[in-house]
Amino acid sequence: MRYASVALDIPTRALEGTFDYAAPAALGPALAVGATVLVPFSHRAAVGYVMAVSDEPPANVSAQQILPVAQVLAAPAFDDASARVASWMARAYACPLCDAVRPFLAPGQKVKVTRPSPDAPWELVSEKAGPRDARWASLTPEANDFTPTRAASRQRAVIAALAAGPQRVSELSATIPGAASAVGALAKRGVVAVATRRELRGIESTSLSSAAAPRPARLTDGQVEALAAIGRARAAAFGDVVLVDGVTGSGKTEVYLAAIERALADGQGALVLVPEISLTAQTVGRFRSRFGEEVAVLHSRLSVGERFDQWDLVRQGRAHVVVGARSALFAPLASPGLIIIDEEHEGSYKQDKSPRYHAREVAARMAAERGCALVLGSATPSLESLERCREGRFSGAAWTRVKMPERPGTAALPQVTVVDMAEQFRGGGRSIFSAPLVRALEGVVERREKAVLLLNRRGFANFLMCRECGCVPECPHCSTALTYHERTHALVCHTCARSWPVAAYPDPSTRCPNCGSRYLAAFGVGTQRVEDELGMLLPEGVEVIRMDADTTRSKGAHQRLLERFDAAECAVLVGTQMIAKGLDFPEVTLVGVINADTMLKLPDFRAAERTYDLLEQVAGRAGRGARAGEVVIQTYWATHPAMRAVATHDRATFLAPELAERAEAGYPPFARLANVVVWGRREAMVREVSAAFADAVRARTEGLAGWEVLGPADCVKARAKDQVRRHVMVKAPADADLGGVLRGCAASIRRPVGSNMAVDIDAYDLM
Ligand code: ADP
Ligand code: ZN
Ligand code: ZN
Repeated sequence: MRYASVALDIPTRALEGTFDYAAPAALGPALAVGATVLVPFSHRAAVGYVMAVSDEPPANVSAQQILPVAQVLAAPAFDDASARVASWMARAYACPLCDAVRPFLAPGQKVKVTRPSPDAPWELVSEKAGPRDARWASLTPEANDFTPTRAASRQRAVIAALAAGPQRVSELSATIPGAASAVGALAKRGVVAVATRRELRGIESTSLSSAAAPRPARLTDGQVEALAAIGRARAAAFGDVVLVDGVTGSGKTEVYLAAIERALADGQGALVLVPEISLTAQTVGRFRSRFGEEVAVLHSRLSVGERFDQWDLVRQGRAHVVVGARSALFAPLASPGLIIIDEEHEGSYKQDKSPRYHAREVAARMAAERGCALVLGSATPSLESLERCREGRFSGAAWTRVKMPERPGTAALPQVTVVDMAEQFRGGGRSIFSAPLVRALEGVVERREKAVLLLNRRGFANFLMCRECGCVPECPHCSTALTYHERTHALVCHTCARSWPVAAYPDPSTRCPNCGSRYLAAFGVGTQRVEDELGMLLPEGVEVIRMDADTTRSKGAHQRLLERFDAAECAVLVGTQMIAKGLDFPEVTLVGVINADTMLKLPDFRAAERTYDLLEQVAGRAGRGARAGEVVIQTYWATHPAMRAVATHDRATFLAPELAERAEAGYPPFARLANVVVWGRREAMVREVSAAFADAVRARTEGLAGWEVLGPADCVKARAKDQVRRHVMVKAPADADLGGVLRGCAASIRRPVGSNMAVDIDAYDLM
């Protein structure tokens, strides 16, 4: 007899790990790790996932008591190593096991079951409408000797169409009325062959000129060194990590391509993660042009059917290179030799709903389980990764940093000018564009080149700012920037929850607390306004392309805009954060940042780091080709260390005091931080539950070094959809079992119906 341990997909019980069942021989080899099964559970049927199979009966249940698995609902979607990673995720992120398993399942698979009749077997309800097959028609050699009768005009049309090559019958029918029956008649005579082929839904292609990715004649010294380090990490087969710390345009992507080539030559595959936002046709095109059909692509802008097809290619072992967003990490690639995470510092690698995992951490665990190498790439590596490289080791694996400080060939890092907007204002400048930016734009137009303008939308218009000195009013009790709430015209402190009507701060006037100016405004510009003003500023014949949430809503719009930018002779691309990354257009010689500092005042300990990273990223779009690049950064905070560091591309100098502050205050990378949010309609209940939770953690960690509990306090978003939200923050030592402790505490308190709790470990954006 075999036995299966199963993770049930029942939210309430799911926290409690796996349940044991007998695996009847009749169910055969389909009942394996990774299979979705139907099992009896407290007098009803439940869906579950097989996490382990064993010949040994479970220790604490007698053979008579153990119930058999009823049915296999879906073939294995993951293997033993993935099952172990899922179990680790459930503990590390204090989430139900079934939540941790779900990312590994086939796209579109639902937990619900149905059956066509009471005697029929159960089936899983699926969103994807199954794999799709199509009928293809092609000419046979007999076609050479065949002449249709004069009356059979449809047959003639079909033969003429197929002379150019095989076609889908559905496509023939679209252009030739009655094509399907003509194909049928021709097939009977042996003139046309009809075959059913599995369709691949929606493969994108690209016409972007730079997508071709020619192999460089010579690798740079940095690239050679990076590849050698990756080779060593693969040979160690221990989940070792290589951090490729390379300036923008230094050829990191080329390193990935070369490393993947070697993995494929060794019969292994590769998982490549790219932030969703930079997963453009251009990025995909570079991988496709090198590895062709070996590449599967997975991201959320694909339909469920498309995602299923790509996922299935990987599972069948037909594609060995997976390029995708965060969730591509869970693709069923049998033997990865490499996991690559590009732009590893990106916050979007942290998932903001359960399982609230960080792709970097899961990838490190996965690499260790599978004995492959993890490659992290960034021009602005996360402080977490830098710290681990400095230590040389983390969680058993070796962490190595390779620097690539130069661009290949003659391309140099761009010249950066920081413009003090307060000074511009005092000098009479009232435009969105400062004088230096206008001059730079004029130069681009003269030389018929291209420019990119970034409008930073994060933290946008949430602060009241003095236009004369750039001062942002702070809470007198907390030294936290006050958030401006437009609807109530109030200033709110999100640390202590005090609030002031704008007119009453800091005394009954609307003057700047710093310089007394009356120009205190939550002034905001949108991309639309930048586009309009550019239209007035620039001469005719310069194309202005706007890229933001509005203009990229429809499918493929993102790519069409980039193709337009690529094709134009002289153009300006205006956009939000989505233009900051991944774009590689050699003709871009100017990058302008309209408002560099909106992020600096967010109640976020990473605000300065994130500002620097974004600016360095967007600056990296300039001067990637033979022509030199220029960057103009407009800010009200020209003296901020982040601004000064970007001007010299000197991140190390900027980071030193930043790291010292984090070490002092006990923030990551020197400690771990969890954010636990409690919400519900009844404020009293939310207060009670959040306080009980904070007390439980305090009691549990009392006297332990490095643990600290903050709160409960109102969330930054204190109210959402009529629900009151409060949070508790927990700091713990870098190697602590934070997930295990918080899960225990959450289970130990009374949680009345109507109260909700979310545990976010290694929180990135505070909810
Ligand atoms: P990153 O990923 O670090 O931003 P890329 O890999 O996109 O850098 O490289 C930037 C540009 O330099 C690309 O156009 C790429 O084709 C080119 N490139 C990369 N490596 C080399 C090399 N060894 N020699 C010449 N050109 C290179
Ligand atoms: Zn002022
Ligand atoms: Zn305050």
